[in-house]
Amino acid sequence: MPAELLRLYVTASLLSSLLQTLLIGIGGGLGVGLANYLAEAVAMAVCIWLEQQGTIHRFIPGTSPFAEHPPSNVLAVGLPYIPLYYAISLGWTAFGQRAALDFNPLSIWSFVTVAMLCHDAWFFTLHTLFHKIRRLYKHIHSMHHRLGASCSALGNAYADAVDVGLCFVGFHAALYGYLYHQPTWNPLAVVSLIVVEVMTNIIGE
Ligand SMILES: [Zn+2]
Repeated sequence: MPAELLRLYVTASLLSSLLQTLLIGIGGGLGVGLANYLAEAVAMAVCIWLEQQGTIHRFIPGTSPFAEHPPSNVLAVGLPYIPLYYAISLGWTAFGQRAALDFNPLSIWSFVTVAMLCHDAWFFTLHTLFHKIRRLYKHIHSMHHRLGASCSALGNAYADAVDVGLCFVGFHAALYGYLYHQPTWNPLAVVSLIVVEVMTNIIGE
């Protein structure tokens, strides 16, 4: 193969793998945003139904009406995940090679517990800073509190993209960075953590 043709081939394959990685990042990020929006839509329908039944006001008197659920939330939640998925797809081969499935419930439970405690500390620190530093509150965090005291499962994800990015994606980026440097990691424990986290975020609100 002439040198020029070879160079062209290498460039094309490099470009196609870069495009592939970018698409995984964008698809993964927007997938998370869309999944969140659909979950919120279902939760919203349940909340509205409960409100019509009077159940919510019986348990939590004085709650304000439900906040709207703008489709722009898909972007606010999804965008911060794009760089994370992009980074994961870049390191995917190394991640895959060190994945070791472990069904032991005790090891999964201990991983989830420690990770949740770390996430809580991370979240608490960031949230305190968001409220203590006026500029951060004004430009980033105030959007989340525009919901007021409305009781809904939608409140946690209603925030500025930077807010979501720092609170959730930042934590996961640090966690995956840590796992990347371990001799092995358990995909089941990571999936369990994500499930527990999503459940507590929605129910916690
Ligand atoms: Zn706050």
